[in-house]
Amino acid sequence: MRVAVFSAKSYDREFLAALEQSHEMRYLEPRLDRMTAPLADGCEAACLFVNDTADRDALSGLAESGVRFLALRSAGFNNVDLDAARELGFRVARVPGYSPYAVAEHAVALMLALDRRIHRAYARVREGNFSLEGLLGFDLRLRTVGIVGTGKIGHAVATILRGFGCRLLAYDVHQNPDCLSLGVEYVDLDRLFSESDVITLHCPLTPETYHLVDEQAISKMKPGVMIINTSRGALVDTPAAIEGLKTRMIGHLGLDVYEEEGDLFFEDQSDRVITDDVFSRLLTFPNVIVTGHQAFFTRNALSEIARVTGENLDAFAAGTPSLNELT
Ligand code: NAD
Repeated sequence: MRVAVFSAKSYDREFLAALEQSHEMRYLEPRLDRMTAPLADGCEAACLFVNDTADRDALSGLAESGVRFLALRSAGFNNVDLDAARELGFRVARVPGYSPYAVAEHAVALMLALDRRIHRAYARVREGNFSLEGLLGFDLRLRTVGIVGTGKIGHAVATILRGFGCRLLAYDVHQNPDCLSLGVEYVDLDRLFSESDVITLHCPLTPETYHLVDEQAISKMKPGVMIINTSRGALVDTPAAIEGLKTRMIGHLGLDVYEEEGDLFFEDQSDRVITDDVFSRLLTFPNVIVTGHQAFFTRNALSEIARVTGENLDAFAAGTPSLNELT
């Protein structure tokens, strides 16, 4: 099968190379949108990443180019208009759980770095400043951590934090028995907000979870709360978070994802002027760490993404159903 791989980076080529035995891979650097869709001309499948915009326009463009299958190199699929995909006759498959540990470990890395001010200590020591002023942290042991979304990643976070000796609260529309056996206590969102020292988001972005952390939610939280978002940017209303940081309601903010990341992340922007003033404001806070959607980025995860993407493409080529298909 001929496959147009959008948003292809050097690491995608490295890990997807194994698929070249069965499929003809066309690596395309641009992100998918209406304008770039014709680059897939003559391909039966398009392989997409999180910031490829598979809206109705782009999907129509892909359909006109002959594409009938979408193989997502991600677990999240909020970037795909599934209604339009169905109407246009696409089969769509994702990689549901390539390495929950990669994302969970990154979420915990953000917690620890923010708590112990590792980002500030690193810069200080390199400047010969060994003062400890402003670096005071807290023990994670016995702290209450609220996990929103206890699927694969939320469960992996709970397992790690159980080892740290944290008290674990959770909110999910479905209780996960594996989390219950770890001793996680399911509570409603309001209680999770009001009792947690650290809140970490691991639910998908849906109309129900859009701006889950907004001004009202922040007003219910413990003053000085730490918020971690490694899920999807639009779970957090960024201007509301900035207000929360200014009033010190939010004591620490760790983000691997950002609502408007599509125009920023995955590219070297260091020679350009960032015109997103909201994002620029975020970067001015000493108690904010932003990473550029790298939580998934481990060798283990990329190998698994390539393996499952290969399985999805094989199923498309054979005309057989795939368990990873989105219907
Ligand atoms: P999962 O499907 O295993 O778990 C998601 C959980 O969220 C489920 O338990 C589900 O019941 C729950 N949920 C759904 N709607 C909810 C709601 N309204 N309120 C509370 N909980 C709700 O998914 P996962 O593999 O754990 O991934 C979680 C999210 O992490 C993905 O949706 C994706 O957005 C994000 N992610 C980010 C990265 C990254 O690199 N930063 C990588 C992979 C996944």
